[in-house]
Amino acid sequence: MILQNWWYTTLLGTDGVLQPPLRGHVQTDVAVVGAGMAGLSAAMRLMASGRRVTVLERNVCGGSSTGKSAGFLTPDSELELSQLMRRFGTEGARELWAVPVRGIELITGYVRRHDMQCDLVKQDSLFVGNSGSGRRDVQQEFEARRSLGFPQTLYPRGRVAAVLGTMNYTGGVRYPGTYGINALLYAQGIKRVLLANGVRVHESTEVRHIEGHTLHTHLGSVTADQIIVCADKLKPSFTPYARNVFHAQTFLSISEPLEERAVRRLFPEEPMQCWDTDLVYTYWRLTGDRRLLVGGGSALSTFALHAVTTPVGDREGHPALQGEVPLPQGPRVHPVLARPHRHDARPVPHGSPGRAGALGALRARLRRAAVGGVLRGFRRPARAGH
Ligand SMILES: Cc1cc2nc3c(=O)[nH]c(=O)nc-3n(C[C@H](O)[C@H](O)[C@H](O)COP(=O)(O)OP(=O)(O)OC[C@H]3O[C@@H](n4cnc5c(N)ncnc54)[C@H](O)[C@@H]3O)c2cc1C
Repeated sequence: MILQNWWYTTLLGTDGVLQPPLRGHVQTDVAVVGAGMAGLSAAMRLMASGRRVTVLERNVCGGSSTGKSAGFLTPDSELELSQLMRRFGTEGARELWAVPVRGIELITGYVRRHDMQCDLVKQDSLFVGNSGSGRRDVQQEFEARRSLGFPQTLYPRGRVAAVLGTMNYTGGVRYPGTYGINALLYAQGIKRVLLANGVRVHESTEVRHIEGHTLHTHLGSVTADQIIVCADKLKPSFTPYARNVFHAQTFLSISEPLEERAVRRLFPEEPMQCWDTDLVYTYWRLTGDRRLLVGGGSALSTFALHAVTTPVGDREGHPALQGEVPLPQGPRVHPVLARPHRHDARPVPHGSPGRAGALGALRARLRRAAVGGVLRGFRRPARAGH
């Protein structure tokens, strides 16, 4: 059992030399604070426009949420397409959906163009329904996708059983155009591209405060015409939005490489990346080296006010593994990345009336639901009217 961020072990043996911290003063056109998916994407775009770019990263590139993520490259987010349509109308949903689709094209394009080794695997997505209400969610997602003309296949219960080897789910929507990736290796790959093109990248460099156009770190400073902040765990000294970020978290586990027999039991036809219709959803996929990634949580841990850091060491202790995913039996499958990770870079729009109250009410409702053991009956926030 390894209780650490397992992804870091995948950096061993790569030629990624860590970049030294910033020392002294630097003048640049654009400074990017934070080298996760957002900061690195911004740096790539700015580099292409010919600007002098300096990237400052507290950890290593990809060392926070990006490099701890499950690596699902899918336009689906906490809000499904059907929920986007209810909130923003058909055209609004189409536009919003197109943004992550372009993001996926951008990421996969960089991987191919720069021949990055980051375990990019093409896998269809399968959104599966839990219980009767889950079947309705699946049906609504199918209708939403159909109305926008997106490719997909609707699976009744029996067909889901055929592709997932379990009768646990009441239906599913399958669609193409999605991938899995080791996002930490990707971030390190992007770092190498930036360095090769003259971008300054400093790791182990925390920006302590910003004064006008100057950023101050522990050993140096940068003056820039423009500053782009792509940091997580925001500080109020960077932006007033810091006060509007709330904490949520998810557990992620990864198995040892599975034998072919176990893979066939999980995915009798071919591997897919899957998640279910629960509010605190369970998600799983197979990596390129046939490890099973499973993520999820409980209502209590996901919406707790502070990080839940108790290590969960076995299948029974992992909130996402309690019989939901049809794991193969035997000692070869166990969580090796068992600590929960903060998932808190999720700004709530400033001044949105009643939003904090609605979230507080939802949190309280979820706590009651979890205590009462009736979580499956709960719906996603959009359905609950928030
Ligand atoms: C367990 C888990 C699973 C997830 N699974 C998925 C998934 O499958 N698919 C998906 O699309 N999303 C997933 N996510 C969400 C996804 O990881 C994030 O939305 C995304 O990585 C955010 O990227 P970012 O660049 O905004 O933030 P981050 O990756 O957090 O980058 C911010 C960077 O800023 C740096 N930083 C912070 N403060 C400073 C400072 N003062 N000075 C310098 N640097 C600073 C941090 O060290 C960090 O590297 C998951 C998240 C978690 C935690």
